[in-house]
Amino acid sequence: MAISRTRKYWLSLVSLGLLLCFVVVLSIQVRQSGLLKNAIEYNENEVSWGSFQLEREALNFQLGLKSAFEELDDEAQAQLRLRYDIFWSRYDVVKNNPSARKILDGKEYDQAITLLGRFFDETEQYFPPGPGYRIGTLQLRHISQTLEPVLPKVQALANLSIHRAIELSESRNRQVRDQILISTALVIFQFILTLTFFYLVIRLVSKLQSSHEDLTRLANYDQLTGLPNRRLFYDRLEQEIRNAERSGMRIALMYIDLDNFKDVNDTQGHDVGDALLKEAALRLTHSVRKSDTVARLGGDEFTIILPGLGDAKAVARIGESILGALTEPFPSNDRANFISASIGVTIYPDDARDVNNLLQNADQAMYVAKSLGRNRYHYFTQDMHAQAQARMRRIHDLRSALSNREFCLRYQPIVELSTGRIYKAEALIRWTHPTEGFLSPNDFIPLAEETGLIVELGNWICEEALEQSAVWRKTIDPEFQISINTSPVQLCASETRLDAWHGWLEQLRLPGNALAMEITESILMNEDAAERLLAVQSMGLEVSLDDFGTGYSTLSYLKKFDIDYLKIDKSFVQSLKPGSSDFVLCEAIILMAHKLGIRVVAEGIETEDQRRYLAQMGCDFGQGFLFSRPVSASDFQRLASSRTIACGQEGS
Ligand code: C2E
Ligand code: CA
Ligand code: CA
Repeated sequence: MAISRTRKYWLSLVSLGLLLCFVVVLSIQVRQSGLLKNAIEYNENEVSWGSFQLEREALNFQLGLKSAFEELDDEAQAQLRLRYDIFWSRYDVVKNNPSARKILDGKEYDQAITLLGRFFDETEQYFPPGPGYRIGTLQLRHISQTLEPVLPKVQALANLSIHRAIELSESRNRQVRDQILISTALVIFQFILTLTFFYLVIRLVSKLQSSHEDLTRLANYDQLTGLPNRRLFYDRLEQEIRNAERSGMRIALMYIDLDNFKDVNDTQGHDVGDALLKEAALRLTHSVRKSDTVARLGGDEFTIILPGLGDAKAVARIGESILGALTEPFPSNDRANFISASIGVTIYPDDARDVNNLLQNADQAMYVAKSLGRNRYHYFTQDMHAQAQARMRRIHDLRSALSNREFCLRYQPIVELSTGRIYKAEALIRWTHPTEGFLSPNDFIPLAEETGLIVELGNWICEEALEQSAVWRKTIDPEFQISINTSPVQLCASETRLDAWHGWLEQLRLPGNALAMEITESILMNEDAAERLLAVQSMGLEVSLDDFGTGYSTLSYLKKFDIDYLKIDKSFVQSLKPGSSDFVLCEAIILMAHKLGIRVVAEGIETEDQRRYLAQMGCDFGQGFLFSRPVSASDFQRLASSRTIACGQEGS
């Protein structure tokens, strides 16, 4: 799941907001620290102390002057000089102190400094450097007069300094207090910002992580069952092969195909089918160890990788347990579904050493399990490999057979039992293979269905049979009808163009009933096929239900689809004896069909007895070697013209 556009937009907006906040906070802090720096740099205490010292020394000097007037001996001379020097140095400190200038800056300061400057300029001459000078009373008076106007200014400066010092220290206290408050607020604010930022980042990261996990899940796991999909299965098998190369252990690969799953899906809908697949996946998972990989390749096909295989018996045990688990009923809404599985097993490294060949082997073994009657497991053998190769070759040949004109139709008469008349035939396809010779439909129809070639083939059969029907309507019987066999795959395929069939009928000026379509019962349960069947019927074609009795034989469908003919399967006919269950069944089928207005064809009649029994039961038509094997069109023409059916006549 990707992050939505609005989410991204909001996230960028919030990040921008956070950045702005950081900048504002930073600038406030910079400003605050500037103020504090000022306050610390200009020390008002030092300034007020300096001014105070200056005032004190000015007074001391005045006192010195006073005592000099009284007694101006050498010691007094020296004392006065010392006081003068200290006074001057105090003046120098206050004058050159940058803080003083900054803090006291103003009229008082300027006046005091100017007056002091002037005082020292004028009196400097009385205190020349070095010994041997003397200060007389006259000079003392001059000094005293010059000092007089200076003293109040110095006092005023000292007062101002103290005043400013108090003011400044109060203001600084305020600033420090504010700074502490602001700093605390900023720290809290920054803490919240940082928390918010981390929260957003963590959310974003976990979002990215979960969307990454979603993508991985989608790419590697089957959405319906939650099992590893084909891609992950390949990865795991490759990994297990690498492990096995190191450890020398064997791996078993199972290919599992559910039997009859398609019927459940077709008859009960995809929801029931999906639920069954989920349950089957669960049962498979429970049948193996946690370290084994159960994967779904698609549809009703699963694979299981069993690594670290000790003895072959383990595989058999697991195979049995899977078969057992899958034959248990699958509860659905109001009924239980029963399925089974066909399992193909191949072993690494005995049968193959790479993923593709292992999978191919297991698949082939699975097909053999199916063909042997399903609900079983079968091991891969090298024979199977050869067979699979032959199969591939046959599919390859099949693709060019139609354009090479290697197919032909044989016709087997369908005889009216009460009169012996032939005015119907079943068209049966044959393939003259360039190297293998005459092939029966069972050898290639399933392959044609699997590869989709059946559609093209079916169209050819239809066209060919219609042309033949048109001929025989002229030469044998104006009501002549040819039955063609149609497989469910062919009927469902969108490429089967029924409008083309209609076109051929019109071209040959034939009514729809010149053709009958033989279908098997399973078609009626497939919704798509059933719909197309109705379209076929609307063209006037008749419908014959083939191999009746071997499939579902759901009687309700007979009425629903307006079936014209019902063909009793040859397996019932071949063991027909009075008193046998088949005898009773045939009687019942004929009776029921007649009641529904359906005519009956019995297939596979080989003996005169069989013909007689069926005729006595009231069966309408018969077909079988007794009358004729499937023959070429020209032989059929001769056969029908003679009107006398020779028993067991051989076709070419
Ligand atoms: P089906 O539709 O049941 O055809 C009848 C099969 O029974 C034919 O086999 C026929 O030769 C055989 N048969 C007829 N009379 C007797 C008999 O007295 N005794 C015995 N033992 N067999 C008899 P065939 O021609 O080998 O066809 C086999 C199946 O192949 C057909 O069974 C049909 O399902 C399929 N098939 C044949 N032609 C076509 C075709 O053109 N299209 C399609 N889709 N399937 C076809
Ligand atoms: Ca048939
Ligand atoms: Ca049949």
